[in-house]
Amino acid sequence: MTPTAAAEITLSHRFADELPELAVDWQAVEPPASQLLVLNDALAADLGVDPAYLRSPEGVGFLTGVAVPEGARPVAQAYAGHQFGAFNPRLGDGRALLLGEITDREGALRDIHLKGSGPTPFSRGGDGFAAVGPMLREYIVGEAMHALGIPTTRALAVVATGRTVRRESDLPGAVLTRVASSHLRVGTFVLARATGDIPLLQRLVDHAIARHYPHLGGAENRALALLDAVIDAQARLIARWMLVGFVHGVMNTDNMTISGETIDYGPCAFLDAFDVGAVFSSIDQQGRYAYGAQPAIGEWNLARFAEALLPLLAEGADAAGVDAAVAAAQQSLAAYRETYNATWAEGMHAKLGGTPDDERTAVLVNDMFDMLAMARVDDTSFFRRLASAARGDREPARALFADPAPFDLWVERWLTLAPDPDLMDRVNPLYIPRNHLVEEALAAATDGDLAPLDDLVEVIRHPFTARPGLARYEEPAPAAFGPYVTYCGT
Ligand code: AMP
Ligand code: MG
Repeated sequence: MTPTAAAEITLSHRFADELPELAVDWQAVEPPASQLLVLNDALAADLGVDPAYLRSPEGVGFLTGVAVPEGARPVAQAYAGHQFGAFNPRLGDGRALLLGEITDREGALRDIHLKGSGPTPFSRGGDGFAAVGPMLREYIVGEAMHALGIPTTRALAVVATGRTVRRESDLPGAVLTRVASSHLRVGTFVLARATGDIPLLQRLVDHAIARHYPHLGGAENRALALLDAVIDAQARLIARWMLVGFVHGVMNTDNMTISGETIDYGPCAFLDAFDVGAVFSSIDQQGRYAYGAQPAIGEWNLARFAEALLPLLAEGADAAGVDAAVAAAQQSLAAYRETYNATWAEGMHAKLGGTPDDERTAVLVNDMFDMLAMARVDDTSFFRRLASAARGDREPARALFADPAPFDLWVERWLTLAPDPDLMDRVNPLYIPRNHLVEEALAAATDGDLAPLDDLVEVIRHPFTARPGLARYEEPAPAAFGPYVTYCGT
């Protein structure tokens, strides 16, 4: 701990103070040889922290949790979760720490959290560490999502630790410093419920409302109000994922936030060819978390959230009370599909240039997805190039089809709706972190060359604005890239 660190940053410890049953005081392991790989200057500025300080040796000590500000109280957070559907009552931060909460420039509380900071009481046989590649992937994809306007946690920094971590092979180790509006998860509530301590569950509800939904503080039933708010936030979030072709890859209930931010970028990826069955995670053999399965999995996870809240949803623990609670939960859960469908439909109308919300568009959209799936067309390129067709040049989109006949028929129908290409360019990204480019950047970074990663992040920070000289970032993966697989050996 250094005086400089204490002077620069103040961290509160509201989670640790208000929910001590869900926190274990803990410390990060000192890295053998820290080296700052990337620093998110823009995010540092949002937090009111001087990037020059974070680049200093003291700052890197802060980013890795070995030089915590005076008065901070780092903790490993406890949570449960359903992993691929199977309940696990004891997950928790097995390789992570909540350093504390910082008050950002706008006065909002944001968690400063470490991933890869060493073993904790929740490590369950894991080593507690993380590798450079996956931590940098989290940085890249989080920045892409933020730039696309999709709620997300973000990386403030990635620091190489100089430690070798053993996975399928020996890999360089890293710590990710993550910023989130909180790390409250569905799994946090599932754990609180599993303890049987109902006052703890109510305290957790109140903590979550204070942090994320303060306008609900006066609600008649705060747990029910929180349930509705989280259902709404997650329905909107998952609709946004679907509209940009994002596949999270591991939607366990411990990876679903109460805030409605995307969290835990593991085996995640953006679609190349449109395919509802797309799975990128090596361990997802059944396709539980396939692209097209995500909306239903979101609903399943929220049902687990509702179950956790049941004792608070209605008065009385007798049969009548339980029936009333279940009825309330079911009514709340019914809103998920409505909100999801409405958000998705609104987004899809914009992607297609402001098509009317009517039966004609609905049929056109269905036919479009049949056509895209059949032809295995690159999802991102299709929507972006379609704007050219609205401007009079069908060739760029047409060229994506080996057999253009179905496209020729479809585009004719679509053009009769007078789509607005400028609207399309505002919502259909040109630059996403394409899988082959992410792999190229991570491989180079693992070998010590950060230039491809820096270039990629620079490009995806402005996903909608076409710029000269960036053609390779627009192109679909070359055929030689093959099917993309990411490994959970994170
Ligand atoms: P994830 O699927 O990455 O969200 O992780 C699921 C659970 O496994 C969490 O409780 C993590 O803390 C834990 N975990 C993942 N990797 C490790 C590791 N290398 N060492 C210890 N715990 C880990
Ligand atoms: Mg997780």
